[in-house]
Amino acid sequence: MTDKRAITVAEGDGIGPEIMQATLKVLEHAGASIEPEFIDIGEKVYLAGNSTGISDEAWESLRRTKVFLKSPITTPQGGGYKSLNVTIRKTLGLYANVRPNISYEPFVKTKHPDMDMVIIRENEEDLYAGIEHQQTPEVVQCLKLITRPGSEKIIRYAFEYARKNNRKKVTCFSKDNIMKLTDGLFHKVFNEIAEEYPDIETEHWIIDIGIAKIADTPQDFDVVVMPNLYGDIASDVAAQITGSVGLAGSANIGDNVAMFEAIHGSAPDISGKGIANPSGLLHGAIMMLVHIGQPEVAEKIHNAWLKTLEDGVHTGDIAKGGSSVGTMEFAEAVIERLGQRPEKVEPITYAKEEDHEEAQPAMKPQVKDRPKYDVVRELDGVDVFLFNNELTSDELGKKLEDIAGPEFKLAVVTNRGVKVYPGGFPETFTTDHWRCRFNLSEENTSPSNKDIRKLLDRAEEAGLDWIKIENLYRFNNELGYSLGQGQ
Ligand code: NAD
Repeated sequence: MTDKRAITVAEGDGIGPEIMQATLKVLEHAGASIEPEFIDIGEKVYLAGNSTGISDEAWESLRRTKVFLKSPITTPQGGGYKSLNVTIRKTLGLYANVRPNISYEPFVKTKHPDMDMVIIRENEEDLYAGIEHQQTPEVVQCLKLITRPGSEKIIRYAFEYARKNNRKKVTCFSKDNIMKLTDGLFHKVFNEIAEEYPDIETEHWIIDIGIAKIADTPQDFDVVVMPNLYGDIASDVAAQITGSVGLAGSANIGDNVAMFEAIHGSAPDISGKGIANPSGLLHGAIMMLVHIGQPEVAEKIHNAWLKTLEDGVHTGDIAKGGSSVGTMEFAEAVIERLGQRPEKVEPITYAKEEDHEEAQPAMKPQVKDRPKYDVVRELDGVDVFLFNNELTSDELGKKLEDIAGPEFKLAVVTNRGVKVYPGGFPETFTTDHWRCRFNLSEENTSPSNKDIRKLLDRAEEAGLDWIKIENLYRFNNELGYSLGQGQ
């Protein structure tokens, strides 16, 4: 008998403790070789004054066991509480969120009986970098960060996942028709990595029509990879149309640590009633068992669970008014069926211990051995952002032309990305936040940051209130910035 695998477990908030007890009971009866270490996270910890929602001891357990089975938690509204889910994902580098969305027709009513897709959502970057600022009284901003190594990791993960799980197609969603640099990089990296996997079919959809297609014909998708925010929205749509948000589990995978959970929240509306469906967390636990090398146990539970549904044993969210059982009764019904397989649908099989290594997507390149990109970077100019609610576009433009030289010349002034000077339209609505683009003057052949400092000093002396700058670079002679609309 091998030693039991230590795992960190959080019972969470709301329905969390109820569904966790049910899930652990099923795991125990199925013979999972695990040793749970319980930690407190969430509401209790927030309200005790720890605004991160997690204690140092809990971090210690997570970093030691490297496997986390987590119930949903409640993030208190307001009060500056940080989302613990985002904190855990980012601190532990859990870059891949894997969400299978499968229909269980005829046991679970859905308009999409043939749906079997996996959404692989980038989990750390994009608008979730959490870099937000109020810049002027009227304008706030959120930085959308997409990186080449981050995109490479998640896209390679998606292709490896597809190959190892015998899936045929990987689809990429982005909005690179609008966000040419950020989403453009994600799409470009997708095309590069796709070439390494000629056995897998690939396609790309713009996110809006892509999500519409998921809602309409989800059976056309297999594995879908996308940046963080789109993945958040698309995966909830996909989970919902399988028939219930109470069914799906998700894995958050990093190079060192992995976290497994249900996709739904803490459902305060039904908390304490003993009626929640434990299936979402149970599916998270099944993914965890595969991850820690106990695929036989995962398979046994998954097939018993299917047989339970097949036998008509349902919690209220699935029964929808028909006869239903509570959380623990459902878990006991699964336990009674351990060792049985469904008859009306295909039983599940997972790759077994001997080929388990093979079943894990190989992650490369690791950040530490990624190549140094051979790039020539040249300064082209600078965008100076101003707060101004007094001068008109023309008055501001003329003042900026006066202070530009000798190092720069004014190229354009935009407001919310639209050109307002030179030659702006009076119809264009403006706020108090102005982007003033300066290109190098012809005589400036060896530009430096010192030139920018001088320009900012002149702006200040002219009574202009600059609030931030953004340097304009070319990388290997390609523009590293977008042009303003109308520029
Ligand atoms: P929710 O997923 O908790 O609930 C949405 C609806 O689905 C509710 O009507 C609920 O009763 C039902 N539902 C959810 N899970 C169910 C289950 N297992 N069985 C039966 N019915 C179920 O979403 P919400 O109400 O928007 O959020 C509640 C709280 O959960 C919020 O504080 C939110 O921040 C948190 N949340 C946490 C996580 C997480 O920890 N991973 C994820 C999402 C939301």
